[in-house]
Amino acid sequence: MIPYGKQDITENDITAVSEVLRSDFLTQGPVVPRFEKAVSEYCSVAHAVAVNSATSALHIACLALGVGKGDLVWTTPNTFVASANCALYCGASVDFVDINPRTFNMCVFALERKIEDAIKVGRLPKVLIPVHFAGQPCDMEKIFTICRKYGIKVIEDASHAIGAQYKGRPVGSCEFSDITVFSFHPVKIITTGEGGMALTSDIELASKLALLRGHGITRDTALMGEPIEGAWYYEQISLGFNYRMTDIQAALGLSQMERLNQYISRRQSIASRYQFGFEGLPLSTQENEVSTLSSWHLYVVRLKLSQISKTRAQVFEFMRNRGVGVNVHYIPVHTQPYYRKMGFNIGDFPFTEAYYAEAISLPMFPSLSEEQQDVVIEALCEAIE
Ligand SMILES: *Cc1c(COP(=O)(O)O)cnc(C)c1O
Repeated sequence: MIPYGKQDITENDITAVSEVLRSDFLTQGPVVPRFEKAVSEYCSVAHAVAVNSATSALHIACLALGVGKGDLVWTTPNTFVASANCALYCGASVDFVDINPRTFNMCVFALERKIEDAIKVGRLPKVLIPVHFAGQPCDMEKIFTICRKYGIKVIEDASHAIGAQYKGRPVGSCEFSDITVFSFHPVKIITTGEGGMALTSDIELASKLALLRGHGITRDTALMGEPIEGAWYYEQISLGFNYRMTDIQAALGLSQMERLNQYISRRQSIASRYQFGFEGLPLSTQENEVSTLSSWHLYVVRLKLSQISKTRAQVFEFMRNRGVGVNVHYIPVHTQPYYRKMGFNIGDFPFTEAYYAEAISLPMFPSLSEEQQDVVIEALCEAIE
């Protein structure tokens, strides 16, 4: 079976990880800061805080922005559950903004309308979490301008989008957000096994994120309230977690960063080849609203089911039987049983639900060979013709 996603590990990666295993520090050593520096420089952003997952990064990003009990956080329903769960961890409530049916990303018009309604009832969100679905950046300048006007903070969930660009700037620059979050899970663009990172250009937010990552403990005398008793002394000044990344993981990430641009161009050429192969078929693919460069974490085709004699499930099964490991991204978050128990219903976000009913993710990863791409293209053509 050709998988839908797969990590790429080289001998250099293995050597880099082995070096850490032979060194004095497996965690809290010198490699995590080096990895943070490599990512922040790549993204042209001042601060980067590496953590053990994007889920953790989203959690501490919400906390750093002051999300707490009684607050409201909005995200898109077309995402992995972690984009919404982070608000619940903080005791806040979640609501969703429907997608644009052509970009599969949060719809800017739906956002504006929802804000107008929220003003009427006096319940604006504290934080908005747009997700760069499949690696295609949302229209961040518009989203950020709207949010700034109403005092709403913005976290970009860029779990799919390290290496992507928005208006010529790298995703992660935080030009149009307060914090950006990356994931380094093996199916994502670069990997650390498990891992994530929160980026910001705001030094105060960076310092809060760093504290929250490590139990709320500081050794920075400027932050301490009491006189230092000796070299052993530290203070816990807030309630944090152990969300640290290990040096083992960071060594893998740092080594992978060297190939990030190669990965993106491989993914782009696979996307172009797919697009060419699917010309004339009854399906649509993700569009961009402004000048962007997708990192192509996922390649999603949206089937025009009215023109196809099969259901989505039948197309899915057909592909799997042909050895093509297709997948579906995403089951709308608000339709998950846990969210339905909170009061959400099928029908609440119709554009997302209509998209979900027609979506299939095809194999997309840097080492996907041309022969494998041809197997995918031929299988899909046969499945829907
Ligand atoms: C993968 C993913 C996450 C969670 O990432 P982890 O590093 O696995 O915690 C969050 N949001 C989106 C959109 C994702 O795809």
